[in-house]
Amino acid sequence: MENILSAAEEILGTVVRVERHRDWAIFWCPFHNDASREGEGGHPNFGVNLINGYWKCLRCGATGGSLNALRIKLGQDWKPPVSVMQPTRPSKPPSQVKMLDEAMSEARSIVQRSPAWSYLAQRGVVPYTALVYGLGYGIPIPRVHREIIEAATQSMMVRRDGTWLWAGGVVYADPPTQPTVMNVRYIPEEQLPQGTRKFKPEKNHKTWGNRVQPLGSWRITQATRTLIVLEGLFDMLITAQKIHQLGREADTVAVYTNGASPAAKMHRWFSEHNEYDYVLLRDPDKAGMEWSQAVSASIRHGGAKVRTLKPPDQLDPDEAILSGWWPSAI
Ligand SMILES: [Zn+2]
Repeated sequence: MENILSAAEEILGTVVRVERHRDWAIFWCPFHNDASREGEGGHPNFGVNLINGYWKCLRCGATGGSLNALRIKLGQDWKPPVSVMQPTRPSKPPSQVKMLDEAMSEARSIVQRSPAWSYLAQRGVVPYTALVYGLGYGIPIPRVHREIIEAATQSMMVRRDGTWLWAGGVVYADPPTQPTVMNVRYIPEEQLPQGTRKFKPEKNHKTWGNRVQPLGSWRITQATRTLIVLEGLFDMLITAQKIHQLGREADTVAVYTNGASPAAKMHRWFSEHNEYDYVLLRDPDKAGMEWSQAVSASIRHGGAKVRTLKPPDQLDPDEAILSGWWPSAI
């Protein structure tokens, strides 16, 4: 498969993208003016099958059964166009996170028998909340179909040795089916059976996929009036749990931005959704202050009302809520 890809690249220049789940590589077509349309929103139309070398252009219809046939058809003087050989921007493999439902089901099916269950209890997350949000446990090597492993590999979720990077973590998919984002919170090493995680995570959490809207917003309904916005996964879980305990689920939803510097698309989402009242519960540190200023600015830009509240005693929102604090204004 890699042989066909590198042979095709020798003829056609750098591949535009590889669709591993169906063994297909996409190039700019050498038979019509495909590449010249790149800057004008044009799409590459020329596919090469990585199993058998079959090729076809969806635009001009050029087709053949092998890379040898392609060489012959292009002729001896053919050289890959310079613009194709030197891509103007590095091509990043597209995320395949939404194909991970099957792996997520595995992760959910064992969560109550896994180290995640006691970790969640320790963090104050009750079973109801864990199950509503479909939390799972990151199995180092989940037993799923080959396509799923390829999708995870393409989403940079699998190490060379086959271990998944979510190993030994609480995993959350957003939305819970066909997710666009996969989030893991690593359980501390000492709470895992020895040898569970064969690598050291850089941070205590990691995310794959595209953050295009606040996470947790799949719970928004027609009746939602107030959005409580937080920074992190556990802040959201604990806040959502409190909203449930107060019987306020009908009109109030907790969402989180997944980090202190939300993506541009998420800022746009806040500007475009001015039908809600917003309450920001921020972390006590400086990053938390900057986060609330940036998110507030986007919300106000869209014309909605927003208030920022800081929990007492330098506590993070989840710790403060678990210790009994709740803003009277909500
Ligand atoms: Zn063509």
